[in-house]
Amino acid sequence: MALTDSLAETTANATWSRMLQGNSRFAEGKAEHPWQDKETRHMLVDGQKPDAAVLSCSDSRVPPEIIFDQGLGDLFTVRTAGQTIDDAVIASLEYAITKLHVSLLCVLGHARCGALETADRQLDEMMRAITNDADDSLAAADAIEDLDEQIAASDSIVMRQAGMSVWQAREAELECAEDFERVHVARTIETLVERSEVIQQALADERLMMVGARYELESGRVEVLSF
Ligand SMILES: [Zn+2]
Repeated sequence: MALTDSLAETTANATWSRMLQGNSRFAEGKAEHPWQDKETRHMLVDGQKPDAAVLSCSDSRVPPEIIFDQGLGDLFTVRTAGQTIDDAVIASLEYAITKLHVSLLCVLGHARCGALETADRQLDEMMRAITNDADDSLAAADAIEDLDEQIAASDSIVMRQAGMSVWQAREAELECAEDFERVHVARTIETLVERSEVIQQALADERLMMVGARYELESGRVEVLSF
């Protein structure tokens, strides 16, 4: 058992190092585009054995295979706007863990994320509406304190998740978009663990390592987040 545990951890760490090395190559303009040839394609016909699962944003500027300079069969990716989580996302990640035995799950946020920018603007609008409707500033302050209930009741799943991240970041007196992005990655990881027993069990058995990261568009570099 101990051997399996340490092996899984070693594999996850080695995978993450390899991905970060790939990202350095990509950022420096020295991408190798590995495992994208005909031979690899043929080799993978009978099955896949990816090392890592990545949950990231659908943003066209953030494809995990490209920014980590990986190839066919390397990464099991799930992408939604603002890496929003729903049942399909969870089922896909659980498949990667239970059937494909990935030892690493990376949640990747990014700079200038449209989902977070939209959520930020909508929050401002909600606050303005509250201030305009309130009888006095005390009533407005009370209503703004309960804004998280309004966010949780939003029709938009992106607003319920990304909006709540921005709200919580603002409540913690964080002001810049970079911090909203970091908080959103942390909350996404928390939500995944909360909602998925498969993930909880894999973490408890030390079969899985979870990492949070944030991609910077200009430099092309992935910032490793620690929480
Ligand atoms: Zn995004």
